Amino acid sequence: MASIEELAYEKCLEVYARQSEQEIAAMLRPQWQEAQFAQWDGVSCFDCGEDLIEGRLLLGRVRCVDCQSLAEHKEKRSRGL
Ligand SMILES: [Zn+2]
Repeated sequence: MASIEELAYEKCLEVYARQSEQEIAAMLRPQWQEAQFAQWDGVSCFDCGEDLIEGRLLLGRVRCVDCQSLAEHKEKRSRGL
């Protein structure tokens, strides 16, 4: 059985395969550098408070996979995509 880290890694590869270079660069930039996440505690999901897996932290993500995809979905909708 695949570990949660392996699943997260596969999910990343899957996501990257569909992104442009510019989007990948944006994804690789640690999210916590953004001003809106200044209050982030560094260990748990910014939205739901679940502990983040190491893979997410290494990627500089501040949200769990679920909250991140939800946030991206909302963002895309708000940009009319
Ligand atoms: Zn979350």
